[in-house]
Amino acid sequence: MIDEVIATASTFESQAKANDSKIFLGHKTSAVFHRDLRYEPFKIASASGIYFHFTNGQKVVDATGGAAVSCIGHGDPRVRDAISAQFDALDYCHSMFFSCPSSEELCQALIDTTNGQMAKAYIVCSGSEAMEAAMKLCRQYFMELPTAQPQRTRFIARKQSYHGTTIGALSMGGHVGRREMYEPILSPNISHVSPCNAYRGKLSDESTSAYVGRLAKELDDEFQRVGPDTVCAFVAEPVVGAALGCTPAVEGYFKAIKYVCDKYGALLVMDEVMCGMGRTGTMHAWEQEGVVPDIQTIGKGLGGGYAPVAGLLAGHRVINTLREGSGRFSHGQTYQAHPVSCAAALQVQQIIQQEGLLDNVTNMGRYLERCLKQRLGNHRYVGDIRGRGLFWGIEFVKDKVTKAPFDRKLDICMAIHNRGLSLSSNKGILVYPGNGTADGVLGDHILIAPAYTVTREQINLIVDLTVTAIEATFADLA
Ligand code: PLP
Repeated sequence: MIDEVIATASTFESQAKANDSKIFLGHKTSAVFHRDLRYEPFKIASASGIYFHFTNGQKVVDATGGAAVSCIGHGDPRVRDAISAQFDALDYCHSMFFSCPSSEELCQALIDTTNGQMAKAYIVCSGSEAMEAAMKLCRQYFMELPTAQPQRTRFIARKQSYHGTTIGALSMGGHVGRREMYEPILSPNISHVSPCNAYRGKLSDESTSAYVGRLAKELDDEFQRVGPDTVCAFVAEPVVGAALGCTPAVEGYFKAIKYVCDKYGALLVMDEVMCGMGRTGTMHAWEQEGVVPDIQTIGKGLGGGYAPVAGLLAGHRVINTLREGSGRFSHGQTYQAHPVSCAAALQVQQIIQQEGLLDNVTNMGRYLERCLKQRLGNHRYVGDIRGRGLFWGIEFVKDKVTKAPFDRKLDICMAIHNRGLSLSSNKGILVYPGNGTADGVLGDHILIAPAYTVTREQINLIVDLTVTAIEATFADLA
C-alpha cells in the first residue's frame, strides 16, 4: 500500500500545497528573512501556559515548548518581574571585564546543581555559541597543560548528531542533511562514529553489553585511526534530540566511552543543550549515566525561552589547568553573561527548584510514555517510540519489519507538523518535526517535549491531538 503512497507523492505534494495555503499567508508582505522564502509562517500574537494564540484566532497547544525550550510554560509573571527588576538595576555591562549579581548568582546556582562536580559556568546566548566555546576550551586545555600537547587538534563526534549551526558546531554535528550544503567549508579535523541508537544500531541477536562493546571498540579504532594523541575530545549528546528524535544511549554506553577517552587522555564533552536542565527528569542528563563530563553545554531549558541564554559548565580538571596555566580563557563575546538574560535564567531555575518540577517531569514523563505507547505502539507506520522524562520521539517508517524510512519527497515529519497546526479552524497542536538520518538515509520523527508544569489532563490533550494529526496525515496519503 505504501508503494502506492509513494507513487502518489506528487498528489500529496499538491495536497500539501493546498494545506500550506491554509497555513501560510504568502511571502511578499514580510521583510523578515524567514527560513522559507516561499511562505510567511503563522504569526503568534501571544502565549500563556502551554498555549500559543495565533493572530488568525487559532489556539495551538505547544507540545514541544518550541524546540524543548519553554520548560516552565509561557508568560510566567515571576520571570517578567525578575527581568524588569534587573533592567531597572543594570541593563548591560561588558561581562568580559565585569561581573554583576545576576550572573554570579546564576553561575553559582548552576554549579550547585552538579554537586560540586563542575567548577565554573560560562554564559553565552545560544547553544551553538556554547559549543564553539567548548571546542576552544578543549584546545586551550591541552595547550596549557604543564607539558603542552599542541598536536591535539582533532575531535571525534557522532553521526546523526546536532551541535549547532555555526561552522565549528556544524562541523561537530553529524546530521547529513544539515551539513550537506556547507560540507566544503566544514572543519576536516572532526570525524564521526556511530551513535548509540538501539532501534537501528543494535543487532536483533546482540546483547546490550555486546552492543556497547562494539560501539566502544569503534570509538577506540577511530582514536587509533586518527592518532590517539591528536584528539582533544569526544563529543556526544546523552539523549540525542533534533537529529535522532530523543534517542537515549543504552545502559553502560557512556561508561564505556568514558573509559576509551580516559585511555587516550582525551576530554569528554556532553552536549546537553536540548536534553539538559531537567528535561529528562534529572537536572543533568549525565546524572543518569553515572558519568561526569569534563565539559557540558547547556541552553534551551536554561532560560526557558524567556531570554536568549545558554552556556557551558567546566569541570575542575579543565579549570585548574587554565588557572595554573595562563590564568585566562582566550574567548569572549559582547553579550556573554548578559545581566538581563542571567536574571531571567536564574528565575526560571528557581521556579524549577522551588516547585519541585523535576518530580513532575519524571511522573508526567512516565504517563506520557504510557499514553504514546498505548495509542501509537501498534500503528503500522510507527517504528519506535523512545525518550526520557518529558522528552519523547516518535519515528515513522514505511515498513516496520525492514525499518525502511519513507521517501523524503513525502516529508512526513513536516506534513504531521503542518497537519497538527491546522487540525481545525480554532484548534491545533505544535509538535517538532525532524528528519534525522537513519543509516545515511533521511528518516522522519516528531518530538514531544511539553513544559515541566504539564498536567495529566494536558498530556491527554497532547496525545489526542498528536494521534489525530498523525492519522489525518496518513489519511491524506491514502
Ligand atoms: N546542541 C544541541 C544538542 C541542540 O539541540 C541545539 C539546537 O537545537 C544546539 C546545540 C544549538 O543551539 P542553538 O540553536 O541555541 O544555537
